[in-house]
Amino acid sequence: MRIINPATEEVIGEIQEDTGQTLDKKFQLLKTAQPAWQQVTLKERIQIIKKFGSLLDEKKEMLASILTAEVGKPLQQSRNELGGAQARIKWLTDNATKYLSDEVMTDDAGMQEKISYEPLGVICNISAWNYPYLVGVNVFVPALLGGNAVLYKPSEYATLTGLEIAKLLGEAGVPENVFELGLGGKYTGELLLQLPFDGYYFTGSYNTGKYIYGKVASKMVPCQCELGGKDPLYVADDVNDIKAVAVGTADGAFYNNGQSCCAVERIYVHENVYDKYIDEFVKEVKSWKAGPPTEDGVYIGPISRKEQLYVLENQVEDATSKGAKLLTGGKKANKKGFYFEPTVLVNVNHSMQIMKDESFGPVIGIMKVKNDEEAIQMMQDTEYGLTASVYTSDKKRAETILQQIDSGTGYWNCCDRVSAALPWSGRKHSGFGVTLSHAGLRAFVKPKSYHLRGK
Ligand code: NAD
Repeated sequence: MRIINPATEEVIGEIQEDTGQTLDKKFQLLKTAQPAWQQVTLKERIQIIKKFGSLLDEKKEMLASILTAEVGKPLQQSRNELGGAQARIKWLTDNATKYLSDEVMTDDAGMQEKISYEPLGVICNISAWNYPYLVGVNVFVPALLGGNAVLYKPSEYATLTGLEIAKLLGEAGVPENVFELGLGGKYTGELLLQLPFDGYYFTGSYNTGKYIYGKVASKMVPCQCELGGKDPLYVADDVNDIKAVAVGTADGAFYNNGQSCCAVERIYVHENVYDKYIDEFVKEVKSWKAGPPTEDGVYIGPISRKEQLYVLENQVEDATSKGAKLLTGGKKANKKGFYFEPTVLVNVNHSMQIMKDESFGPVIGIMKVKNDEEAIQMMQDTEYGLTASVYTSDKKRAETILQQIDSGTGYWNCCDRVSAALPWSGRKHSGFGVTLSHAGLRAFVKPKSYHLRGK
């Protein structure tokens, strides 16, 4: 398998993909190593994972440049991702004792009722490329803390980062064969679905998630799917500082080139503030520096996958052919590398792909609405349900709107953010299951109930 730098289109690495045989061997090794890992005390497992967190910090510059070389995100955004991963590790390790230790529920008249949290066994984590550290950490960190062994399949577009993760976990003290990599693309993923893992944790697109869920169902083991979104954002007419709102929401749509599962994917603006918002939004988008992701100050680098350039071109063409107006961008940049111009479309409606299908790139459609009711109706008109955001100076108004949106996360005066303390979960085609928070720590263990009579 060849690793290609999306900024230069050069081959920067060649990797031997796993085969059915090598994966089978890795699975057996994991199975053999897991019971001893389970016996390591939780306190010690926490120390090991904390050490992994500090190694990410120590080696930040080297890891950030590898990440940028294979996924194309601006170097500063790679550094930010590593910082974010460390913050998640901190929350998960600081809270693991509280949520993974035995819990005595009642201890009365000679009867003790207790819950103990046992690992699932060997889990399979098939992962995405857009934030390989963040979405990886969401799964393999709580899984390891819970005493599981992990087969981590990095995306074929983030393989070099996967190799670094495995190296650093070993260096931090995760014993041999407790964490293994599955290297390769779709075919490697397919092979993993044939093995008898004790749980499948997938991060990726709706289509792949639906397929994996179907394949795993008959195994009768836990399966979680963290999938895509078409996340809406509404700007109400009472916002105080329209320029600040435009700047913040443009970042929510275009950070990481729009390749975030919770990127703002469609915007609705109250008619009273629409013109001013569009003006400030386009000004902001035009102010960004685009170019090689290794250059200082670059905000828009190449997108990570060549095929997505065509998806974006199609969405723009579909929209303009149905009456949308292009305010800036709209096409692949005329140079080497997978560069797409940051694109803003108005006069859009829900007959257009740009307002219905996940774009996962630097394009946004902005639509004018008359009132909150119309905004709610539009925001709800989607097959997805990851996040939704409302900008208004009135918290009550925001909460009233967000309660009516079927999404796993609601934001007031912010967007495109994830907190380790809160459950990260999708609804509808955005998937099911939870990572992060107390619920995410417990997603990799099974509760056992003890009824203990006697003294
Ligand atoms: P993808 O579905 O193409 O691939 C994800 C993983 O699945 C990769 O490792 C890939 O090799 C593997 N895979 C592909 N086909 C497979 C098959 N038939 N059987 C088994 N494995 C298979 O997704 P992607 O392009 O890597 O990631 C982008 C998508 O992920 C977007 O839709 C994004 O919104 C979503 N995402 C969601 C979250 C979340 O937390 N909800 C986070 C990040 C990304």
